[in-house]
Amino acid sequence: MVFSVETSSLFPYTLSAKPKKVTTLFPSFVKPCLQPYVSKTLSLSVSGRSRTLSPVLSSITQVVDEDKDDKLHEECGVVGIYGDPEASRLSYLALHALQHRGQEGAGIVTVNQNGLESITGVGLVSDVFTESKLNTLPGDVAIGHVRYSTSGASMLKNVQPFIASCKLGSLAVAHNGNFVNYKQLKTKLEEKGSIFNTSSDTELVLHLIAKSKGKTFLHRIIDACEQLRGAYSMVFVFEDKLVAVRDPLGFRPLVMGRRSNGAVVFASETCALDLIDARYEREVCPGEIVVVDKDHGDSSIFMISHPQPKQCVFEHGYFSQPNSVVFGRSVYETRRMYGEILATVAPVECDVVIAVPDSGTVAALGYAAKAGVPFQIGLLRSHYAKRTFIEPTQKIRDFAVKAKLSPVRAVLEGKRVVVVDDSIVRETTSLKIVRMLRDAGAKEVHMRIALPPMIASCYYGVDTPRSQELISSKMSVEEIRKHIDCDSLAFLPLDSLKQVYGPVESHSYCYACFTGKYPVVAETEEENKAEGEVNAF
Ligand code: SF4
Repeated sequence: MVFSVETSSLFPYTLSAKPKKVTTLFPSFVKPCLQPYVSKTLSLSVSGRSRTLSPVLSSITQVVDEDKDDKLHEECGVVGIYGDPEASRLSYLALHALQHRGQEGAGIVTVNQNGLESITGVGLVSDVFTESKLNTLPGDVAIGHVRYSTSGASMLKNVQPFIASCKLGSLAVAHNGNFVNYKQLKTKLEEKGSIFNTSSDTELVLHLIAKSKGKTFLHRIIDACEQLRGAYSMVFVFEDKLVAVRDPLGFRPLVMGRRSNGAVVFASETCALDLIDARYEREVCPGEIVVVDKDHGDSSIFMISHPQPKQCVFEHGYFSQPNSVVFGRSVYETRRMYGEILATVAPVECDVVIAVPDSGTVAALGYAAKAGVPFQIGLLRSHYAKRTFIEPTQKIRDFAVKAKLSPVRAVLEGKRVVVVDDSIVRETTSLKIVRMLRDAGAKEVHMRIALPPMIASCYYGVDTPRSQELISSKMSVEEIRKHIDCDSLAFLPLDSLKQVYGPVESHSYCYACFTGKYPVVAETEEENKAEGEVNAF
């Protein structure tokens, strides 16, 4: 299969479409404390003849549609490990720690004397891997992925890591994020004869690498990244190299750590490092490519600089685990501050503060502490309610909310209750929660939301409904209050959210789903949302 695409003139976003020489940079946005870790300079030239690349794809397996339960859904999680003989087992454990970022599929690729070997499957990490399967993945370099898909069928062929092979050898990639110029690039590639085998935007990277004239995979990865726009935290393996890349705006997190035996670990969140006893060293900086191999140790290239990162503020508010450090901040402490500020800007007389578990819990603790009101467990989340249902009819979805959340009458009866949640997406869950609390005897129900109202869809790797389906884009706060039938409703104001980060750091975050002002322009919303898996990763 021969790929061809013209890449010139498409990407004004990059500093250099065809860099003759790439050197390590220390752009102003790199925190000084991180600079010592940017250890070495690699000089590269992108040239050479084009190669062909043949994606190696698995057979197709259909799985059930997910339960669309009026919550945003996690993106994906990635892990990469270099220099540990237990690389596949460590990846397996790390993927467990990242399971909250994707439950639809999981995969691991290792490097050994046979080249790249892979196991991917649909379902939870524990469903996909067994002891005997992991035994078939020897090698001291590995990457892994947990996947969440937005819509349409979650097919096995879309489960990452993806492997491709060409004259240069074999290469595998795992990606968290979403390319906003996916359709544009895909169309151009298809016009030149490329055939796409999956509906995942990640496959685009392989085609761009195939088209590149770079002499090595590393040159070609740089070349490909310079053409991509949007959100990407990616790990690659090829030959004896592990490469970690974060997009210039740093939408999605990616951290680096090290085990006591010197093995280097990359992961979406630090909770994965903790599980495998890797010490957190630093974030992979926006626009940075970290290369780990036996010749260079770990070396960095800053391919594309950008004056201001735009990290996803929802990672702190909802997606990431509270025990993680994301974008250099404790998720727990940040989320708790959201709750404290919410109590300050939206106080109300109440007897008890409860949370919508699990994502509202830490903010509720902050709210309760600031308000001086007891925090209690007023809603229990079932650990056994499945995310997926064979026939997701509306009737079953309604049942699903009740199956997941149960009220504790002893906490609620006769009480004025503040219930803290992280967000309201479509309002259906909030409506049911208010009704549930009243049915359990709550005298008053005051809903507090620890993020601002969502009015716009996300194009950077988070599954959100179309903007017009978001309740806050259609109704005022008072209209939503009446609709969900609570006694009072308040969101964390955007200005208050920014206060958490202070006047300097607050500029380093993306707030587009609260403002509709996108840091990187996407293709049209209709086009993006029409092609479900484009918004998967
Ligand atoms: S639009 Fe919202 S969810 Fe998407 S990256 Fe920006 S802050 Fe995160």
